[in-house]
Formats: sequence, structure tokens, C-alpha cells
Amino acid sequence: MADFVPVSTLSRAGAAGGERSSTSSRPSEHKLRQTLGKKVGQAIGEFDMIEPGDRIMVCVSGGKDSYALLDLLVSLRRKSPVRFELLAVNVDQGWPGYDTQRIADHLEQTGVDYRMVTENFAPIVEAKLAPGQTPCSLCSRLRRGVLYNLAVHYGCTKIALGHHMDDFIETLVLNLFYAGQLAAMPAVLRSDDGRNTVIRPLAYVPEEFLVEYAELRRFPVVACGCPSCGLPGQKRQVVKGLLSTLEASDPGLKNHMLAALKNVKLSHLLDRDHHPGAAAGGG
Ligand code: SF4
Repeated sequence: MADFVPVSTLSRAGAAGGERSSTSSRPSEHKLRQTLGKKVGQAIGEFDMIEPGDRIMVCVSGGKDSYALLDLLVSLRRKSPVRFELLAVNVDQGWPGYDTQRIADHLEQTGVDYRMVTENFAPIVEAKLAPGQTPCSLCSRLRRGVLYNLAVHYGCTKIALGHHMDDFIETLVLNLFYAGQLAAMPAVLRSDDGRNTVIRPLAYVPEEFLVEYAELRRFPVVACGCPSCGLPGQKRQVVKGLLSTLEASDPGLKNHMLAALKNVKLSHLLDRDHHPGAAAGGG
């Protein structure tokens, strides 16, 4: 396990690039940054996400989550005894109206090395879409392929994505309800061909914290331009709404779901692959 920075020091990092002086003195921002730093440090430490010498490609879409991810990793790198590099990468998928210039301007201010990449696969997604289908699974597959190739091209050992705690628990419910599978997301994923490793340092960060942080830090949030993004009928949006309703009537419910992901009792499920005593093919 990498000797990682003590969580108590994460939040003492000075401003990551792009900090606005008008908000930097707010105590709530300092406190929130401390909390986020602790949660990110915990996830990185528990899953050995970062090793000495890593060059991490941070995928910055222009959404609140990826801006926060980059910001927090910049802070972490300043304080960590573990030496690692960051490369911010934005991929323009080709949806109309996607304002990449705002993202580039922000990345320029951070001082982090960055690349703006145009891939333009949105028309392929639209062309292959059957009526009534959602484009997300094809879009995600194409994006993953692009990111994997870019990481190799740029000599990056890890790919950092901005999925947060709510993404984990929503995926758990989506798989449970609609895919017949008990699975969320991997905190660390090695690709089948071994060329890439994906990490998700925001795994323990609730989305509401990221909303607040993005406002306090005045991140220039940019919509991806995809016409399907966030549509209320999407299953993920339905699950998100359901969990919010449950959380409102039973505060702490989402934290319990996260705790459940860390406390799996395989013997109390019905997957025979995880029951050493079950007879293969038996009735
Ligand atoms: S919402 Fe749009 S950009 Fe996001 S995964 Fe789906 S198709 Fe792709």
C-alpha cells in the first residue's frame, strides 16, 4: 500500500490553481475542502489508487465533479510524500454547443498540464440509435475506448474519473432493479488487456458536497450538450429521485447504502460461484 499523505494534511493545502480570492476566505469553503480531502484521501489509501511515479490522466468534462476531482488531486499532490504527476484531459465528444473554451480557460488557470481533444463521436451515437433506446451505453463504450487510448498515448499509468458516492449507490440500485446483478462500480478497475487502470477517488464523496464545493469555488460548469443528459425519464434519474425521496424521509439512508457496499456478506446471497460448498451444476 502506498505511503499516502495523512488525511489531516490534505485540507491544509493552499489554493489549487484557479482559486478565486473572493471566496477563499470563507470558513465553509475551508471546512468543506477539509472534508472532501479526507474522503478522497481515505478512498485513495484504502484502494491503493496512487503509487509512486504514477502519471494520472484526470478526465475533465466541465462538470462539477471532474473540476472538483482535479482541484482535490492538485491539493493532494502538493502535500503528499508520494510523487505523482497529473495531466488534465478534456474530450469533446461532438455534441453541439459544448463550450470547450471555458474549460480550457479554467485549466489554463490551474497551472496543470492539460490537453483538449476533439473526438466527435456524438454523430455515430445518434446514427446508431434505435427508436426508444437511450444512447448512453454506446456513448460510454466509445468514450471509454477513447480515454483508454489517450492514456496510453500520453504515457499515463492511471485514469481518474469523477464518479462520486451517489453514482456508486445509484448504479447499485440500477443493476439490482434493471440488470439482475448485484454490483456498483469498481473503485479501481484494470482493463482486460492490462493497458489501463481506472481510479475513482471521489467514491466516498456525496454529490451534494460537490454541488456546494462547485458553487463556493465558482467552477465554470459547462453542459455537455448531449440532448439526453439528465432527462427525467432516464432510469438513472428515476433512481436518483427515488433515493433523494427516501433520504429526505430517512436521513442517513445513502450513507447506509455506502456502508453496505463495504460490508458484503457473500454467504448470504445466492451466487453459487461464491459458495464453496455448492455443488457445481447441482439442483
Ligand atoms: S447522457 Fe449523453 S453524453 Fe452522457 S452518456 Fe448519455 S449519451 Fe453520452
